[in-house]
Amino acid sequence: MEINIELLLNLSKVKVLDCSIRESEAHIYCESTNTESLCPVCKNLTPQVMMYQERRIQNMALLGRKVYLHLKNRQFHCKVCNRYFNESFDFVESSKTMTTRYEQYIYFMADDICISQVCVKEDIVWSTLKAIYQKYTDKHLDKRAVWQQVRYVGIDEISIRKGKKDYVCCLVNLERGDRCTESS
Ligand SMILES: [Zn+2]
Repeated sequence: MEINIELLLNLSKVKVLDCSIRESEAHIYCESTNTESLCPVCKNLTPQVMMYQERRIQNMALLGRKVYLHLKNRQFHCKVCNRYFNESFDFVESSKTMTTRYEQYIYFMADDICISQVCVKEDIVWSTLKAIYQKYTDKHLDKRAVWQQVRYVGIDEISIRKGKKDYVCCLVNLERGDRCTESS
């Protein structure tokens, strides 16, 4: 039986090119399915690729193996505003070496068990875990502060994946317009 790795990974707009298993690690080679990218400055769709660079990103372990994505990251040149920019993805922040879902997984684990245990379990250095924990703690505290003074609440729906039409229900602070989904 052939295993569909793309289905297992469930990353939007990413095509798997190859996969190799090395002892306790799985290395997945992939690239974007987009033919062009949106310039972050002028918002023009840019097809001109200037160079490729491999980006290694760690994902959650699968069947006891560490998973590393080797993403073919493209640098584009926008002719409209004459800028160079790197392609962005919705599953990893720029310059980060872990998928967002893996960061969140680590954060929630550290919320439940001792941080030093998480370091051992996930084989992560203390400084990395501390930075992740701090980042998501700050985000959650910000959201709590925003929702502390709510007087009028409404219900709305938002798309969580651009172009995919995946809509989720969310709560709206009617006075400020802040939205909160279940995953927030
Ligand atoms: Zn531009």
